[in-house]
Amino acid sequence: MSKHHRLGDANTMSGYYKYWKRLLTSVNLTTSNFFWSNTRINVSQKRNVMKFRMGTLYIQKMAHLYDRATNSSCLLCHQPDSQIHTLSGCQNTSFQNMVTERHNIASRLITKTLSKGDFGGNIIVADIGSETQMAQQSLVLPAHVANRTSPHWLVPNHLADELRSCSRPDAICILQVGTKNGHQRDLLAIHPLRWDAHLIEVKYCDDTRPEQQLARTTEQHNGLEHALAQQCHKVSLHHVV
Ligand SMILES: [Zn+2]
Repeated sequence: MSKHHRLGDANTMSGYYKYWKRLLTSVNLTTSNFFWSNTRINVSQKRNVMKFRMGTLYIQKMAHLYDRATNSSCLLCHQPDSQIHTLSGCQNTSFQNMVTERHNIASRLITKTLSKGDFGGNIIVADIGSETQMAQQSLVLPAHVANRTSPHWLVPNHLADELRSCSRPDAICILQVGTKNGHQRDLLAIHPLRWDAHLIEVKYCDDTRPEQQLARTTEQHNGLEHALAQQCHKVSLHHVV
């Protein structure tokens, strides 16, 4: 901070200021800023996060702006470059594979944390990559957790075919109504009317514009949510964006 720039001096009319101010009411401030104190994230990574948040990440567009490149197009797909293109939007196959794996790594870390908690035994479905990939995050799911497929008993038979085409959430956790700490593994012994189902979906989004991904998640799991709602006591969809 120089003598010319002090806390409170921000231009409150700028687009970035407005975008971030608007988010204050909807984001989890602790989680969103936890990277500052996370010792596994190095200074260079922290700097890149801040550059992304402030729109100054060095991408091809910037290289062109600084006369270090002949054009501003993405080097991989030759489409117009932007921060969001560099981090998620590029359709180059190897790049998209990295994007998918980044999502799965986040999902595995979240599932791993959930599996260590009070309701770890209530995770019944996960869709977060192969056993080998899970091992990279030291995640071993118990045998009763269905990976990449939904168990046939989860939804009524007449809806099962219809739901096969729907994408599955990253994890499904089913609690028993009225229990605080179930550790319930034999869900078949409990009537679905006593199920409190939680669908968990992890998504990445442009930092200041989560709405599109939130809407996408809701639409994506609408079929499953509706099918479960017909037989369960309660269904909740949790977005981790
Ligand atoms: Zn590209």
